[in-house]
Amino acid sequence: MAESSLPHLARQEQFRASIQHIGLAGFVINAGNNLEYMTGLRFDLMERPVVAFFVPGAPVTLVLPEFEAARASACAFPVRLFAYGEDPSTWGGVFAAAAQALGGLRGRLGVEARTLRVLELRYLEQAAPDTVFETQDGLLSALRVIKDSGEIEKMQRAVDIAEQALLAFLPAVKIGVSESDLAAELTLQLLRAGSSPGVAFPPIVASGPNSANPHATPTARSLQAGDMLVVDWGAAYQGYISDLTRTFAVGEPEAEFPQIAQVVAQANQAGCAAAVPGAPAGGVDVAARAVIAGAGYGQYFLTRTGHGIGMDVHEDPYMFAQNATLLMPGMTFTVEPGIYIPGRGGVRIEDNVV
Ligand code: ZN
Ligand code: ZN
Repeated sequence: MAESSLPHLARQEQFRASIQHIGLAGFVINAGNNLEYMTGLRFDLMERPVVAFFVPGAPVTLVLPEFEAARASACAFPVRLFAYGEDPSTWGGVFAAAAQALGGLRGRLGVEARTLRVLELRYLEQAAPDTVFETQDGLLSALRVIKDSGEIEKMQRAVDIAEQALLAFLPAVKIGVSESDLAAELTLQLLRAGSSPGVAFPPIVASGPNSANPHATPTARSLQAGDMLVVDWGAAYQGYISDLTRTFAVGEPEAEFPQIAQVVAQANQAGCAAAVPGAPAGGVDVAARAVIAGAGYGQYFLTRTGHGIGMDVHEDPYMFAQNATLLMPGMTFTVEPGIYIPGRGGVRIEDNVV
């Protein structure tokens, strides 16, 4: 058995146990990260539906295109395939055959609110008319939120790649170069440093007044002396991502910004210090926010302090004050306080924490 299949088997067993625990007849996972997490099989959401049924007592049952069947049948765990050809009028029958093989699928079936599309839902409804489809994303995120050592190694590698790429990118940062050219250069360096082709997300390179927008996209604006420059980037490695932010000054910044940068650095440290097992996720936000508010910049920190990371760039747990989720060993997330002063500039410092 391939070494890499071991975590998938264990995850499937845990998943089936939690399906039974809440009284579901089964769960349908659509193409995407949840399916890859459970099976190691990567399918992207395209025009041809791919779904996997997880039903206690039955092998993983996949509906998928014929040309994908070979790699799915190479799985090192029990799997049953229902493959369809290129004529969409036959696909409904293949979904029905899969449901039939699973005993007709009566009762409540869990689905993902954020991933399942109307495309798949319609096929499922026709194939299993006696089934109630119930969104149960929490079941999967409860498993995914605790990373094992293999996942954490991949995420550390994604951080290393991102840091190496940033160092290679910095010589390109010069007055007169546009944000979009810099974003292209950073993407290139991420790929050269070993990031997967998709990278983690399109890098944010935001200068001057644009740096005051936490979700800026790179524009044609050229760097000018005195700009703040926010760079938010990440690498992807074997399905896991990193998500970092560093802020630079181009030449001599406005007098207030070195002080602002110091406050944000202290807020980042306070957030990281609050990130301990047994403490609430919201405490990370509260700690970081207290530093910024204490320095008189509270009104300029409007985002949450962080978000979980893993296979997705945003996943559980989220770092907002009201989140009472208790932090546990193996949780991975960002700490990214910022101060954003409209029309002038912003500072964000984002680190990844386990
Ligand atoms: Zn980021
Ligand atoms: Zn982030």
